[in-house]
Amino acid sequence: MTAQIIDGRAYAAGLRERIAGHVSRLKRDSGITPGLAVVIVGHDPASEVYVSQKAKQTVEVGMHSEKYELPETTSEAELLALVERLNRDPNVHGILVQLPLPRQIDPHKVILAISPDKDVDCFTPASVGKVQIGLPGPVACTPLGCLMLLRDFVGNLDGKHAVIVGRSNLVGKPMAQLLLRENCTVTIAHSKTADLPGIVRQADIVVAAVGRPQLIKGDWIKPGAAVIDVGVNRIPAPEKGEGKTRLVGDVDYAAALPVAGWITPVPGGVGPMTIACLLANTVTTASLINGLAPPKDLTP
Ligand code: NAP
Repeated sequence: MTAQIIDGRAYAAGLRERIAGHVSRLKRDSGITPGLAVVIVGHDPASEVYVSQKAKQTVEVGMHSEKYELPETTSEAELLALVERLNRDPNVHGILVQLPLPRQIDPHKVILAISPDKDVDCFTPASVGKVQIGLPGPVACTPLGCLMLLRDFVGNLDGKHAVIVGRSNLVGKPMAQLLLRENCTVTIAHSKTADLPGIVRQADIVVAAVGRPQLIKGDWIKPGAAVIDVGVNRIPAPEKGEGKTRLVGDVDYAAALPVAGWITPVPGGVGPMTIACLLANTVTTASLINGLAPPKDLTP
């Protein structure tokens, strides 16, 4: 048996098409153009790439896009003033401040300043709380992407044992909340978990969000399990030439492939879903801000 490969790139392309459909309906029926503002401070090369991709894809689905590129020397007060202005701007329904921020700026203060109504990253305590108690609103982008893939490929998740390796606020914890809402039995593992291989072997669904290259071995995977690999790790690839590198996940993909039922590759699995889900969240917040129900296919 070989696992079915979950093609996140293709799924994300289809999701963006659906989002574009929702955007054009919102424009036509309600005169609303969902708007996303992305803010970057300084010149972190990886962040610059992400922010450009986000702005480009926002425009491609027909949304209003604003991009603020602030100098490295921006003060906390200046950034907070921009966030306040965006909170009040009726053309902006989603605000994303790209992390990391330069050291003179406290990221927690900035996150707390974002209106929960426009918190498309789902970082504010109010947004996190809403997810926990099942109220409508934005959902952490990467876990939302993982959930969409699981629902689409695996189907009904009722009663499945989901083991999430990693307990970050960004991925592990919100993933656990979403899978609990799907009626999974959820185990969260982390760096202090005893017998990680034994725990993972019990899983019908494994979500790996660790940041350790190929930590999860093929013989840890229960035959037929769904394996969602969030990890993105760069490792040396001498086979490609001196000094070359390649990306791998947190799962030993080649070893898990013949055992799992479904598996996401790295790259091309979870990664492409994250920005698509940011756009989905912006449609959700634009709908809620205007008193409309968000599209069901974009929310958990
Ligand atoms: P993080 O904040 O560093 O959290 C890592 C988690 O893994 C922590 O809970 C840590 O446990 C746990 N951990 C570390 N070593 C472990 C071990 N040996 N055994 C078991 N658990 C271990 O990372 P993150 O932000 O969640 O990201 C995780 C990975 O996903 C990274 O590779 C990141 O690049 C990737 N990522 C990808 C996307 C995407 O769009 N594809 C989005 C976000 C993140 P403790 O809590 O005990 O320290």
